[in-house]
Amino acid sequence: GPVSLRGRTIVVTGANTGIGAAIAKLAGATGMNVVIDYVAHPELNQPLIDEIVAAGGQAIAVQADVTRVEHLQSLVDAAVDAYGRLDVWVNNAGVETRLSLLEDTEEKYDFVMDINMKGAYFGAQVAAKRFIAQGSRGVIVNVSSVHEDWPMPGNTAYCVAKGGLRMFAKNVGVELADHGIRVVNVAPGAISTPINKETEADPGKIKQLNESIPAGRIGQPSEVASVVLFVASDEASYMTATTVTVDGGITQGAAGL
Ligand code: NAD
Repeated sequence: GPVSLRGRTIVVTGANTGIGAAIAKLAGATGMNVVIDYVAHPELNQPLIDEIVAAGGQAIAVQADVTRVEHLQSLVDAAVDAYGRLDVWVNNAGVETRLSLLEDTEEKYDFVMDINMKGAYFGAQVAAKRFIAQGSRGVIVNVSSVHEDWPMPGNTAYCVAKGGLRMFAKNVGVELADHGIRVVNVAPGAISTPINKETEADPGKIKQLNESIPAGRIGQPSEVASVVLFVASDEASYMTATTVTVDGGITQGAAGL
């Protein structure tokens, strides 16, 4: 990752699997201090920490549910206790239910909206308050999705939440600009992570997916992580209140006419 990030402290939510783990690893290899937020599978934490330390970084794992504001605050406190400051906050935790409007329930809707949208909203709030209190600039990165702006019928609440994140980055990027805080969304297309394990396990489905992507293949978590760290770095100092898409061209696929 970019050298300007060396020695800085990053919190990544939902970081012991998939894209979050790739961000944590690359941050570690860049020489950052990494706070790995997780809710499940604590057995995944130590191997990840070992890998980060072996690559020259430092890391701790902290259990925190992003739907609980006091848990989000505990992540800020853990970062400050361990490393003295906070520089980059990545709202990465996300879930989908693959339900249409007509199939959805209040409980499933709340599950998706609370993790993807409320978690990012208050994650940004606790991070921004810390950046302001320590008198420093800081960066908030939201791992959103191409479904910020691209319908996926049958996955409605997810698209609504990610669409909300699109406006969230714009609105909050403007609100926080006076404080020197930048807010940038990174919108992945189809990436090989646990969220897509059913598609990847079905040879017919993965072939169809790969063929629908101009780049010819599903993306790797490391290919998203590199963009997250770039937008978090000083090299991206003029980027805020916007979204960067990392999708192998999937949203621009030509109509098969
Ligand atoms: P993933 O399932 O491996 O990662 C999601 C992580 O969020 C998991 O570690 C999970 O434990 C964590 N999480 C769930 N609920 C949480 C909570 N309440 N508090 C804290 N953490 C919680 O899948 P992924 O693909 O790595 O997803 C990471 C992000 O990337 C998500 O926001 C997802 O929407 C987004 N995304 C993924 C793809 C893709 O194709 N994989 C595409 C676009 C966007």
